[in-house]
Amino acid sequence: MIDERYLPVMEEFYSLQGEGFNTGKAAYFIRIGGCDVGCHFCDVKEAWNASLLAPVDVEDIIRRIKPLPARNVVVTGGEPLLYDLNYLTKRLHEEGITIFLETSGSSPFSGSWDWVCLSAKRNTEPLKENILRADELKIIVCDESDFSFAEHYATQVRNDCLLYLQPEWSCRNEMMKKIIEYIKQNPKWTISLQSHKYMQIP
Ligand code: SF4
Repeated sequence: MIDERYLPVMEEFYSLQGEGFNTGKAAYFIRIGGCDVGCHFCDVKEAWNASLLAPVDVEDIIRRIKPLPARNVVVTGGEPLLYDLNYLTKRLHEEGITIFLETSGSSPFSGSWDWVCLSAKRNTEPLKENILRADELKIIVCDESDFSFAEHYATQVRNDCLLYLQPEWSCRNEMMKKIIEYIKQNPKWTISLQSHKYMQIP
């Protein structure tokens, strides 16, 4: 078991958040390795096997973040909630950082977050307790059956949770049109695009 001060970080980088509510904001990304969800469309399959990654000291991450002008951090994966994130979020908050979480919600919740993006996946659906933590529900749309999957979770999130539909990258041209029409008929949803890929930034 990894001490909560040490996490199997796959990569860290400074960029702009490309998806969802916080799109366009400068942020430092911490991608934690390990995922047991196994989505066929996953664009970070190299993050699945955490045993290939050396544990990284949270204090070293803090040192890298301190000089940056932006005070936002995105914690993503992999599936970050596979780990106890209380120490990481406590230390980031002590440094005055605003912390965004990207999670499928499939593992028990830990940490203290300023924004939780729940990206529910079919393979391993989110834990009930995590659904109510979501500030944003983001569903990746690969085919039309994902609309009913999205509606299933839209009935379970809090009333103030924002709702996003995002085309899966490899079928974006086909699904974009369908999402646009769907949102015109169901305007509680908003479209989210992987804008970082259009901008060709990490
Ligand atoms: S939950 Fe995320 S990291 Fe895990 S397989 Fe699915 S898309 Fe990839």
